Amino acid sequence: MNAKPVLVWFRQDLRLQDNPALLAACAAHPIVPVYIFSPKQDAEAAPGAASRWWLHQSLVALDAKLQERGGRLVIRTGDPLTVLQELLTQTQACGVYWNRRYEPSVVKRDKHIKETLLAAGFQAHSFNGSLLFEPWNVATLAAKPYTVFTPFWRACLGQASPPPPAPAPKSLRFTENWPHSMQLDELGLVPKITWWSGFGEVFTPGEAGAQAALRRFIKRPLLDYKEGRDRPEADGVSRLSPHFHFGELSPQAAFHGASQALAKGDVPAEQAHAFTRELGWREFAYHLLWHFPHTVREPLNSSFKNFPWGRDPQALRAWQKGETGYPLVDAGMRELWHTGFMHNRVRMVVASFLIKHLLLPWQEGAAWFWDTLVDADLASNTLGWQWTAGCGADAAPFFRIFNPTLQAQKFDANGTYVRKWVPELAKLPAKFINNPSAAPSAMLAEAKVTLGKTYPRPIVEHAFARQRALDALASLKQRAPRVDVA
Ligand code: FAD
Repeated sequence: MNAKPVLVWFRQDLRLQDNPALLAACAAHPIVPVYIFSPKQDAEAAPGAASRWWLHQSLVALDAKLQERGGRLVIRTGDPLTVLQELLTQTQACGVYWNRRYEPSVVKRDKHIKETLLAAGFQAHSFNGSLLFEPWNVATLAAKPYTVFTPFWRACLGQASPPPPAPAPKSLRFTENWPHSMQLDELGLVPKITWWSGFGEVFTPGEAGAQAALRRFIKRPLLDYKEGRDRPEADGVSRLSPHFHFGELSPQAAFHGASQALAKGDVPAEQAHAFTRELGWREFAYHLLWHFPHTVREPLNSSFKNFPWGRDPQALRAWQKGETGYPLVDAGMRELWHTGFMHNRVRMVVASFLIKHLLLPWQEGAAWFWDTLVDADLASNTLGWQWTAGCGADAAPFFRIFNPTLQAQKFDANGTYVRKWVPELAKLPAKFINNPSAAPSAMLAEAKVTLGKTYPRPIVEHAFARQRALDALASLKQRAPRVDVA
């Protein structure tokens, strides 16, 4: 064991278990665990308001875990390179260990940090702490990145299986020369407007909460995940996405959790595979972000650059507030506001509504999600919005326009999800809850619904909106094939 300490720079890997940077560092050195809040330098990856709430809770949890083992988390803010250099001097540490991130401006910054530290004679080691497969290790036979999911995932599964998660280090040896740390509250992460008070009813941020959520999911929802994952009212999904985003759980832990349950015969193969396939979509999102970093702002299919988007702040506001007059859309947007989360099926419906019914740019929706989702993730959010807009990799074609009423009737037939999030419609019978405009007036009166007063009329009529979207698509004069992603 080297007597000189090293800094372990925690970022989106806020856990002790299966943390390669931490494991490598503490195998050879005493450590100084560090978190640096650097929204300016994180640029497009700087956390939105809901994510900041989560980050605060997660840092509390990580600090508590370190304190249990005799250490603590040193918290700083500012330009990461400057802060790391200060800490190296103050602690007389000989290097920095961290797990990689993949957002374009963070990649550029980290490269510069590594080069500067190495040039100054320090150690600088980075590891894969958040993906099953590094984006540069998966390529087509023509050595190109994948742009279609199924062959991508097949290629991933053809590689060596992801290693099982490593346990947390048995013991940690810390520096004896602790540098100054800010108080977490000084970062001002928890938003002053307390709309987030419902988040904690649904989630327990931190490593222990993540592991408990995985155990719970494997025990029950995984058993019929393939069917349950499409029903927003059911307890059918894992809700692990924010835990993955903040690195409180490694994807290896989830992948192996499902694989082990399968090997023990606790879960049918088709259910386990349906779940690991979704983990594959997360990998695909990172693969695309790495190879096509411009897609954070621009469509992957460049022919969509000239799409005639509209501008309608009032409609955008109605969408954000869940007051569009389409119950499933409104339920989703209100679930998001209240819990910081939205079910995947509903994410697709609300995104499609913004893009195709309101003809507003997908970037507007991505920005709102970025600020309000606790799992806001640059890779997955970009993929989700571009997929829905028909301009991304392996995307749903633009001309396939979801009818939000039919989607609701298919995936929330009894209106349970809508009843929960749009309580002013709760007394309507299932037949009309997803289409209150079609209900007879006596029934509306009995259910105490006054359209335009207690619940909005649809802000746009479906058939009109559908035709307008198709006309907009037709007006894209030349729809180039995916020249940029051959
Ligand atoms: P589960 O169904 O339990 O799936 C397990 C894990 O697989 C998830 O935690 C997630 O890591 C991964 N996964 C599942 N579906 C997808 C997918 N379509 N794309 C990428 N990974 C997936 N996911 C985010 O994590 N952050 C985002 O900012 C985000 N924005 C989205 C925006 C839109 C418009 C859409 C349509 C989807 C978005 N998604 C995003 C993907 C997906 O909706 C969420 O990952 C999923 O709903 C999280 O719930 P869960 O953990 O219960 O998922």
